[in-house]
Amino acid sequence: MAIILEANQICQRIEKDNLTQLSLISTKLSLASVGVGQDNSANLYQLSQQKAAQKLGINYIPLNLPSDISYGDFKAQVDKINRDGKIDGIILNKPFPTEWKAKDEDVFSLISDKKDVEGMHPLNRGRFFSVDKQTVSSIIAFSSLEHLLISPTVLSVIAIINESFRKVNDTEGYRGKRVTLVGFSLIIGKMLVLFLGNELATVSVTHIGTDEKGDLPEYLRSADIVISAVGKPHLIKGEWIKKGAIVIDVGTAVEDGKAVGDMDFDKVKERAAVITPVPGGVGKLTVMFLYHNLILAHKLKSK
Ligand code: NAP
Repeated sequence: MAIILEANQICQRIEKDNLTQLSLISTKLSLASVGVGQDNSANLYQLSQQKAAQKLGINYIPLNLPSDISYGDFKAQVDKINRDGKIDGIILNKPFPTEWKAKDEDVFSLISDKKDVEGMHPLNRGRFFSVDKQTVSSIIAFSSLEHLLISPTVLSVIAIINESFRKVNDTEGYRGKRVTLVGFSLIIGKMLVLFLGNELATVSVTHIGTDEKGDLPEYLRSADIVISAVGKPHLIKGEWIKKGAIVIDVGTAVEDGKAVGDMDFDKVKERAAVITPVPGGVGKLTVMFLYHNLILAHKLKSK
C-alpha cells in the first residue's frame, strides 16, 4: 500500500518562506489572473489562487473576460497589464478560445517575461533548457536571483519527487531511473522532459498517440516514476503500475463536482510506493510556488 503524499508539509515550508520574503518587502504585491469564459478546472485553480493570496496578503486581481472576446482585444488587455507598474505578475489561465486559432505558446508570449509567474514565456522556457536540480534548489531557496521564472507546476512536481525519494529512502535520485511522462503539453511534459534528462533519468514521453495505439500500459509497466498530466479521470489503471513506483498525478478534472486526477486512485495505490492525491497534492503546492514566483518577479524588477 502506497504512502499517500499530501503536499501539506512542503506547502507549509514554502508558505513560511514566502511570508518571510514578503515581510522584507515594503509594498503589497499584486497578481493579475486573466481567464476567458467559464471552465470548471480553471475556476477551481483561480479559487485556490485567490485563497492563497488572502493568506499571504497579496493583492489578487481576477480579470474574467467574455468567451467571445477577439484575440486582438485580449492582446490589448494583456498589454495594458504588462505596462501597469503596480502589477508584479500575470497569469493567463487556460483554456483559450479555439476560435482564436492561436497556439498556447503564442498566447503565453504576450506576457512580459518579467511578469511571467507561470514560466510560460518563450524566454523563460528557453532559459529552463539547462536547468538542473542545484539551480532549482537555489531558486526555491531564493538564494539565486537569475532571470528565470520556472513553471510552478514543474517546481511542485520536482519538490514532490524529491520528498518521495526521502520517504522511500532512495539515495540514488533521478540517475538511471525510468520515468514515464503521460501528457506532453507546453506547461508540464515538455518542461519536465528537459529537467529529467538533465538529471540523467531515462525518460519516455507518452501522449494521445501512445494511448490511441493502446501502448500506455507498456510504457507504464517499466516506469520507476510516473508523472501524469492529462486531465482524464481514471485514465491510468492499477495493473499498469510497476510495484514500488513513485506516482505523481498532476491531472485535475472535475467529476460530480469534485476534483479528480488521472489515476484510478484506489487501484494504483495498491501497487505504488508513493502516490500524490487529487486534490491535496501537486495542485496545492503549485499555488504556493506561484506566489514564490511573484516574489521573485518583484525582486527581479527591482534588481
Ligand atoms: P493539455 O495542454 O490539454 O495537455 C494534455 C496532454 O495530455 C496533451 O499532451 C495531450 O495530448 C495528452 N493527452 C490527451 N489525452 C490523452 C490520453 N488519453 N492519453 C495520454 N495522453 C493524453 O493540458 P495541460 O494544461 O497540460 O493540463 C493537463 C492536466 O493537468 C489538466 O488536468 C490540468 O487541469 C492539470 N494541471 C494541473 C496543474 C497543477 O498544478 N496541479 C497545473 C496545470 C495543469 P494531445 O495534445 O496530443 O491531445
